Amino acid sequence: MKLLQVEAEEPPSRPLATSQRFSKPHSLINALAPASAPRLDTVVVRMERFPVGPQTRAFRKLFYPEVDAAEWNDWRWQARARIRTLAELERIFVLSDDERDAVIRHQGSLPLGITPYYASLMSRDDADEPLRRTHIPVGTEYIKTPGEDDDPLGEDGHSVVPGLVHRYPDRVLFLATGFCSTYCRYCTRSRMVGEPGGDYSFSRPQWEEALDYIAAHPEIRDVLISGGDPLTLSDERLDYLLGRLRAIKHIEFVRLGTKVPVVLPMRVTRALIRVLKKHHPLWMSLHFTHPTELTTEVTEATARLADAGIPLGSQTVLLKGINDSVETLKPLFHGLLTRRVRPYYLYQCDPISGSSHFRTSVDKGLEIIQGLRGHTTGYAVPTYVIDAPGGGGKIPLIPDYVVGREGDDLLLKNFEGNIYRYTDPDGTVGADRAIAAGQA
Ligand code: SF4
Repeated sequence: MKLLQVEAEEPPSRPLATSQRFSKPHSLINALAPASAPRLDTVVVRMERFPVGPQTRAFRKLFYPEVDAAEWNDWRWQARARIRTLAELERIFVLSDDERDAVIRHQGSLPLGITPYYASLMSRDDADEPLRRTHIPVGTEYIKTPGEDDDPLGEDGHSVVPGLVHRYPDRVLFLATGFCSTYCRYCTRSRMVGEPGGDYSFSRPQWEEALDYIAAHPEIRDVLISGGDPLTLSDERLDYLLGRLRAIKHIEFVRLGTKVPVVLPMRVTRALIRVLKKHHPLWMSLHFTHPTELTTEVTEATARLADAGIPLGSQTVLLKGINDSVETLKPLFHGLLTRRVRPYYLYQCDPISGSSHFRTSVDKGLEIIQGLRGHTTGYAVPTYVIDAPGGGGKIPLIPDYVVGREGDDLLLKNFEGNIYRYTDPDGTVGADRAIAAGQA
């Protein structure tokens, strides 16, 4: 039986339906099929339907009128057609002088790169629009402030072989590729993405060296594959890497860190799902930033991944003027939960060189967690962390709810600011705090 794969633009009638079989006129099938395909009336066409939201559809018709729905929904086309030059950018966006100068000035790693799909979600004329700010460079990107570093987490110093970071005793970070479909201007690995070379070649020999190291270290039970973005690898390469890792007896499970389902959701094809399902237990961390990203396409991609039995968590970087408020993050986290993605980490923005314009104070992060905890579902409250500079690992930060102690009573403040007593005769927590008049 010959299967032709054709993508449809129209959303399915059931929002999460993912495929449909149907008959097509034989003449059309024969016209679409390669010469070697059977010219028979028994040919069945399987259409892999991928929905397109109204804003994105209008954008495609305006800026890519020659591209049909099937091509638009081909992830390889999206990757090839990503916006990489000033001319391509100016064809779509009205740039500020600052943005234009910053694009002209750029050299080296972390190049400009935006998929047409993701560009369709951005404002074309407002340089302050959140998604646009995360992907179009500005001049402050070239200003290095105190405490910033090209490798703020000290990953290079913890690399045991090129592309493999062994910082925690029982788990490793496998940097599988230096390629991303879009490049975030606040990327922690800005030093190595987009222009791999030297130690960052991510070649097959590097993979083999890393696999040999993992196989020789039975204390490693968990591998996080990241990069770059591992879902930009071909199905075959991903299948190979996952298969090799799962074949190592002491590897209990594998995690993938990716932004692809957010910026290139059509990459989550049926074929990819078949590959991923072969390698359970497999977990996935998705990189979300803003509620604007919760599109029809993302709903479909996350549904496919969740239906494949992959536990989904989200990682969000706290970014000044972009998502640094309860009013922005609460709808994002609620939207993720309805898509079966658990908000997992809220990161304080790492001190990467040239990132000061993205970084909030730590007070702001704590204020946001305080504004969520108790005010919404506990599952919608991620852990707020600082990834300690130099390689200290993730350190959780939580608002302080301890008021003090009176004898055996621990005094605690709830989410509404009311004080409660908890009898804790063996405890010492809070003993060092003076209780202000009226608090007890
Ligand atoms: S997708 Fe991830 S690795 Fe790629 S640029 Fe963005 S943050 Fe960096």
